Amino acid sequence: MSQHTYEPHCPFCKIVRGEIPSSKVLETDDAVAFLDINPVNPGHVLLVPKSHHSNLTDLPDLTAAHLGALVPRLCRAVQAATRSDGFHLVVNNGRAAGQTVDHGHWHIIPRFYNDPVHWPWPHSQYAGDELSQIQGRIERELNPPSSDA
Ligand code: AMP
Ligand code: ZN
Repeated sequence: MSQHTYEPHCPFCKIVRGEIPSSKVLETDDAVAFLDINPVNPGHVLLVPKSHHSNLTDLPDLTAAHLGALVPRLCRAVQAATRSDGFHLVVNNGRAAGQTVDHGHWHIIPRFYNDPVHWPWPHSQYAGDELSQIQGRIERELNPPSSDA
């Protein structure tokens, strides 16, 4: 009996349990990496926790740390195996960011100097005190005032 949480309609949970086929390249007690079935470039790999968490913000710290620790080795292997010139490490979180499978995952996407992928995305500029306002808001979210103060 698996100790991992499972969502019956989730394709990545099905891959974790071997209920649908996948091309796995790495498996640990708590994580699996497999080839994306519709790659941006050949060698495009997805790294997923074995437990179902809808997105990155739901991951327990220990699970995130375990997956994060696998990333450099996995990226080295993808880059060496594909002889790529670089790679993207991407998380699409939420529909607005293009997430289509609600089981949090990292994309490792090999990149080549002559590939047809469009990058970079457009950058903008801050106006007025917008930058410091946002900096302050994020800092307060990370360090909320204690409730018993
Ligand atoms: P995202 O859009 O960030 O949620 O990424 C989901 C990714 O999962 C897409 O790149 C899909 O091509 C990929 N994908 C969906 N179903 C499968 C599957 N059964 N096996 C491998 N990759 C899949
Ligand atoms: Zn799942």
